[in-house]
Amino acid sequence: MRPFPLVSTLALTAALALQGCADRPRDVRSAPPPSAAAAGAVQVPSQLPRNVRPIHYTISAAPDAANLRFTGQIRIDIEVLEPTDTITVNAADLDFASVTLDGGARARVSTDADAQTATFRFEDAVAPGRHRLAIDYSGKINTQAAGLFALDYTSEAGPKRALFTQFEAPDARRFFPGWDEPNFRTPYDLSVRVPAGQQAVSNMPEAGREPQADGSSIVRFQTSPAMSSYLLFLAVGELDRITTTAAGTEIGVVTRRGAGEQGRWALESSARIVPWYNEYFGTRYPLPKLDNVAGPGTSQFFGAMENWGAIFSFENILLVDPAITTEARRQAIFSVAAHEIAHQWFGDLVTMAWWDDLWLNEGFASWMASKATAALHPEWEPELGRVDGREQAINLDSLRTTHPVVQRLQTVEQISQAFDAITYEKGEAVITMLEDYVGEQAWRNGVRAYIQRHRLGNTQSDDLWGAVDEASGTPVTEIAHQFTLQPGVPLIQVESARCVGGRTQVSFRQGQFSRDDPDAQPLSWRVPVIAQAGGRPLRALVTGQMQATVPGCGPLVVNYGQAGYYRTLYAPDLIAGLTRNYARLRPLDQIGLLADNWALGLAGYQSPAVGLDLVQAAPANGNAQLLARISNILGQIDDMYENDPAHRAMLARFAAEKLGPAMRRLGWAPRANEPANDAVLRGQLIAVLGGIGDPQVVAEARRRFAADDPSVTAGPLRGTILAIVAYHADEATWERLRTMAREERNPLVKVQLYQLLGGVREEALARRALALALTEEPGATNSSQIIGSVAGVHPDLAFDFALENRARVEPLVDASSRSRYFAALGGGSSDPAMIEKLGRYAERHMTAQSRAPADRAIASVRDRIRVRQQQLPQISRWLEARRG
Ligand SMILES: [Zn+2]
Repeated sequence: MRPFPLVSTLALTAALALQGCADRPRDVRSAPPPSAAAAGAVQVPSQLPRNVRPIHYTISAAPDAANLRFTGQIRIDIEVLEPTDTITVNAADLDFASVTLDGGARARVSTDADAQTATFRFEDAVAPGRHRLAIDYSGKINTQAAGLFALDYTSEAGPKRALFTQFEAPDARRFFPGWDEPNFRTPYDLSVRVPAGQQAVSNMPEAGREPQADGSSIVRFQTSPAMSSYLLFLAVGELDRITTTAAGTEIGVVTRRGAGEQGRWALESSARIVPWYNEYFGTRYPLPKLDNVAGPGTSQFFGAMENWGAIFSFENILLVDPAITTEARRQAIFSVAAHEIAHQWFGDLVTMAWWDDLWLNEGFASWMASKATAALHPEWEPELGRVDGREQAINLDSLRTTHPVVQRLQTVEQISQAFDAITYEKGEAVITMLEDYVGEQAWRNGVRAYIQRHRLGNTQSDDLWGAVDEASGTPVTEIAHQFTLQPGVPLIQVESARCVGGRTQVSFRQGQFSRDDPDAQPLSWRVPVIAQAGGRPLRALVTGQMQATVPGCGPLVVNYGQAGYYRTLYAPDLIAGLTRNYARLRPLDQIGLLADNWALGLAGYQSPAVGLDLVQAAPANGNAQLLARISNILGQIDDMYENDPAHRAMLARFAAEKLGPAMRRLGWAPRANEPANDAVLRGQLIAVLGGIGDPQVVAEARRRFAADDPSVTAGPLRGTILAIVAYHADEATWERLRTMAREERNPLVKVQLYQLLGGVREEALARRALALALTEEPGATNSSQIIGSVAGVHPDLAFDFALENRARVEPLVDASSRSRYFAALGGGSSDPAMIEKLGRYAERHMTAQSRAPADRAIASVRDRIRVRQQQLPQISRWLEARRG
């Protein structure tokens, strides 16, 4: 899923941002080029033997929610390709009661917990041809989102428990034994025992229901089309479902009972998105219905999942609750729904052959969501958010610990680690660039041909490039390979620009942008560059050193339109000219130029003063998203001054001057019919100024909290105000917030309140929040979020605590995500001691293949220390000079 687009200052980010933890696996700079493993060939050791393949699954499950167990019966139609006396399948945490073949031969079963497999041994060799395996087994209902899992919540009628499944990456094996790899596509017949008064939802509509003597029912679903195991879905609980119809497809939103109407925004949005995709893909949505199922609670690593025909989303990213939902969140709900619905074609109808090409699913769905949002909600100016995605990707991709977009993945942990900003945001950025390069129509024709050709099949990246090459007549494969098979960020240096006869003669040099290895020999890319100097934009593929002539003699903007995945470094006289003309540039280029120059300054390619001069030059009544980014930069500087009150105060004065006019214009009260992005900016400015410690904003937030102001009881500013109050809380305030969290009945609000308790500046209270996380009180899926919130403000404290209490913290985190979780807690530190601590943690608790998250965290701590030593003094001088 896409992270929340407007992130704010540290503490508030931790409290308010969506979960979703960017990670960067091991250094694969010198790794051999990856190749996806196609069905039929064993290339990855963790893949199953290819001597048998599944043809059809029939699964009956009977959950025992109270005891967190379930029993299952599965019939698997298989094709044996060569004689064998063993059949190996994926299975994790399953107990086998009996395994028989063709109603006769019983198998001996052995399991391998590390490999997550079960092997069935038969007395006699099984002959090639069709057979049927019948397996009776049982398994666990987990309390974190993996396999079949339970989410407990409070309701007016008391405590409740609902069950859901989450199978991506490979966790279907926790629910049924089988071939749990994306390249095995089969139809599924699923049925489930549902207690009286409860409902069940799966990928397909209900096909029948048999009442049982005890009041329960066996609910049977229609046969699914052939699909990958990670896309199967089941939910059981006391559920509401609201529906509508769009372009002949039944669209539904499923919630806990009583919350149905809160799904209305997502329902209406989905009903607009599906017809738009029908048209774009040129292939109609292929299933009879599409549900989006809301689960109360959270996960550390995902917000929503694209199960075919039955998307799962945590409530905070699906439901609009007038008690807390901000405008920014309302927009994010649309964009996450657009991402998951795009997967219904790109991912579900056509699926990557192996996890190496995960980016093809995720990068494409992210790109498609931005495109649909731009078409259906142009007033949100989603194209301006494109720069944020690019920055998130470059942030990971500019350190030595990065990896190529297409990467070789072998172990379950590596697959889990692959869900990062390289896969999502760099994937999206590369697709944006290539679409811009070949043209919108030609690109769409390529996508349509790809979907047509591979529907109900599995693919590799080159299948997409081939389709685009063919449809557009413009070869993209070579450029695409340079950006997806090799890691890193191109740097385009604009060495000189001269006006000659009404045209600008420009000298470019292609290098590589790196924050921790700037002197290394740069990799080579052919970079699609667009440059504009007041006239018609020039398009060129830049590699090595080259000259170009750009029509016009105005200020030269490189990466005009910001579709390119690279950084632009201007010669000093050129950036000075752009700074003088900054207020006249288009908002998209203002945002891109600011992002580039701020990052180049922090990385040491130029002085950070260049970026600060752009901040200074930004118009006070500038675009809302430009002001939001400026506020992010000021928040980032504020974090660096944690032990320097004098400069912190200087920065606060600059922030008040720069953002004050917008804050005064917007005020604290929403205005009728105001632009949606004004509402987003209001929340952002209050959050950042509150985090920086702006006395007026903090005082106003506290006043409202103390007075039980209606804006604190409900409404779009509620979370923001409470986050400021929590961040600056004293003991009495913190305890009052905790009482609010404990007594809250609305699960959506409860999650938020518990997270806020961790985002506190006072260290003693942060310790109290950590202790609270280990109690039963917050609920199984909220505890790890509290520790994560503490890490947003006190990374060292949170990391040390989690490690000291490792045995108690681990069960609070999704099993496949633990290696990322601990490293991420320490990754925000700027203490040199953390480098050694992370290294020690990796040596003790991680395998050589899975230690990438620790290495990434170490690289990020080192970079933060470097910036504070080398760049912060220059930032301070800039602030001092401004004062004088
Ligand atoms: Zn996705």
